[in-house]
Amino acid sequence: MSLDNTSHSGRPGLDELVPSRYALRVGEIDVLVVSDGVLGLPTRMLAHNADQAVVAAWLDDMFRPPDMLDWALNAVVVRSGGRTILIDAGIGGEFPDLRRAGKLAQRLEAAGIDLASVTDVVLTHMHMDHCGGLLADGVKERLRPDLRVHVAAAEAEFWESPDFSRVSMPTGFPDALRRTAKRFLKEYHSQLRTFETEYEVAPGVLASRTGGHTPGHSVVRLASGGDRLTFAGDLVFEVGFEHPDWYNGFEHDPEEAARARVRLLRELAANRESLVATHLSFPSVCHVAVDGDAFRWVPAFWEH
Ligand SMILES: [Zn+2]
Repeated sequence: MSLDNTSHSGRPGLDELVPSRYALRVGEIDVLVVSDGVLGLPTRMLAHNADQAVVAAWLDDMFRPPDMLDWALNAVVVRSGGRTILIDAGIGGEFPDLRRAGKLAQRLEAAGIDLASVTDVVLTHMHMDHCGGLLADGVKERLRPDLRVHVAAAEAEFWESPDFSRVSMPTGFPDALRRTAKRFLKEYHSQLRTFETEYEVAPGVLASRTGGHTPGHSVVRLASGGDRLTFAGDLVFEVGFEHPDWYNGFEHDPEEAARARVRLLRELAANRESLVATHLSFPSVCHVAVDGDAFRWVPAFWEH
């Protein structure tokens, strides 16, 4: 099969042929998953505590390439109780090697969402692929001055003096992550609203700290009219269903991240709620099933 992705005159290009937004409802809450693009990362990031031959076999089983892997980069817009809430913001221009991401602002615009209409931002954590979009050229100027940026207090505190002793990242990443988080804290200092363990941003929209991936990593739990959906941020990766105990290279406390992942996946499997996550294949809307000692990712049917 071949797909012509180039834009010729009169022919649609990739941006029109591959959708970058997907809308759904959770009770009374409007949810829009928006793709910031994809990140090309080395496959060794998937598990630094596993036998690499087992990781290679898993990649082969999943029809994924052996060396470099595309990761989705999803953000979410939620509307509830008159508030418009952006959950995570993509990478912006923070890491020039990752050129296929950083498209959130243009994709929000294409979806008819004016940056000036965003009342709140929730950051699951302050890695550059989650907060960098707010630092992209021209974005801050278009956001409203009374914007509130919600993040766990432990996250803001962590980035004052971050510990990278347990991560396993490609060269250049720790410095870029430190630099971006510091710049973010400086530029958005007056808009930051920190919470300790939980904060209800709008009716049925609850930011809830998990820790693990970073000390202040949080998920966002939506609940309305008996419907439930959780945006898991970086607590769950593609490989995390079958191998929840594999340590991802970006996890600052990998043991705690694995514990929090298993806890959340068990809960979602038991209460049958929907899951959306940053790096699962767009739009990532799925359910979680228990599969022996691990889990299975069950993609949701698209609603048209
Ligand atoms: Zn991430």
